[in-house]
Amino acid sequence: MRRVPAYLAVLTLVVGCAGGPRPGNQFCDGRSVLVEAFFESGHLTRCQFTARGDLEITILPESKPPINPSPWYSFRLNPKKAGNLKLKLRFVDGYARYWPKISHDGHQWQAMQETDVVLDNDGNGFSISLTLGNGPLWISGQELLASNFYNDWLMEFGAIPDVTVSTLGSSTQGRPINALTTVGGEEFVLLMGRQHPPEVSGAIAMQAFVRTVLDDTDLARAFRQRFSLLIVPLVNPDGVALGHWRHNVGGVDLNRDWGPFTQPETRLIARQLQQRESAGEKIRLMLDFHSTKSNVFYTQADEENTMPANFASTWLQRTAAREPGIDFQRIANLNSGQANAKNYFFTRYGIPSITYELGDETDRQQITNSAPIFAEEMMRLLLELDPAL
Ligand SMILES: [Zn+2]
Repeated sequence: MRRVPAYLAVLTLVVGCAGGPRPGNQFCDGRSVLVEAFFESGHLTRCQFTARGDLEITILPESKPPINPSPWYSFRLNPKKAGNLKLKLRFVDGYARYWPKISHDGHQWQAMQETDVVLDNDGNGFSISLTLGNGPLWISGQELLASNFYNDWLMEFGAIPDVTVSTLGSSTQGRPINALTTVGGEEFVLLMGRQHPPEVSGAIAMQAFVRTVLDDTDLARAFRQRFSLLIVPLVNPDGVALGHWRHNVGGVDLNRDWGPFTQPETRLIARQLQQRESAGEKIRLMLDFHSTKSNVFYTQADEENTMPANFASTWLQRTAAREPGIDFQRIANLNSGQANAKNYFFTRYGIPSITYELGDETDRQQITNSAPIFAEEMMRLLLELDPAL
């Protein structure tokens, strides 16, 4: 019988109970390496060694399909001896969306070398060649940006004199949903992130964007004097902590719950909006940070009149004029009726309501270079708006 290390047995109880309905063994103990995902955002569903000693890992979604096929995986290899290891990583009900990233400390990440990773012919898995040393090795679909990352946000930005850190309420499992707010005049802007747990490149953009808006520059100070900010960087903390592909623990895609408001995570943001509306405040813009195949802004169609008018097209034109190399597409869609944040905020408030999507594999430096430019041009454009409108 396989012996289970005592600390893993305890962790299985703790983490296993908290996870979604994915039947699996969650770790495996081989001759040369112990494999597990007992850390925040960690997830492997099934794990086994073949007779030859190769490692096979299978990843399932947190809910039965239909679910967006964005298989999140993140696990740690704890070598017992140095050597080479073949790993077969397979996704059920999803394709190999995220190119594997590797880390020796869980903080610094790099994309795996193309020579070490082969995409399976059917596109639903990877065959990976690994060289194990003596220390642990993390393999993950994207960088691990979990609660520590967001707590660092709150520490960094909360130290700015006019910024307040608050907890809007709790997720389904009781994790805090925190916000950064500033108090300007009666107009405000809402920034949201991480409705979808694996969409890490969007989180990287949002951090750089927020840093620019909260910076100590003439532009940012003038902006914050006039506009208040409501910034909710981690809307789905349970999904992020549990390594979900898409949903919260209620099995709901939160970006399909704007309007129905069946989930605590969306409801508590809606409550904030209502309170501000009752106090006579006017929302001017909503930006919702996500990730997809490439850099794209989903905006209202040109014939859908927003107030301010033509915001999205002007914003993106000015940014492109200032930085011609900036690589973003605009997709202007009429309201599809889907209960996503973009449609909800436009329909309810008539404002520009934009999904800010980064490519999954967009160069991270490029993300942190472009986000401040978008932030500056957003501030300039909103400052031109007649406050009386
Ligand atoms: Zn998304």
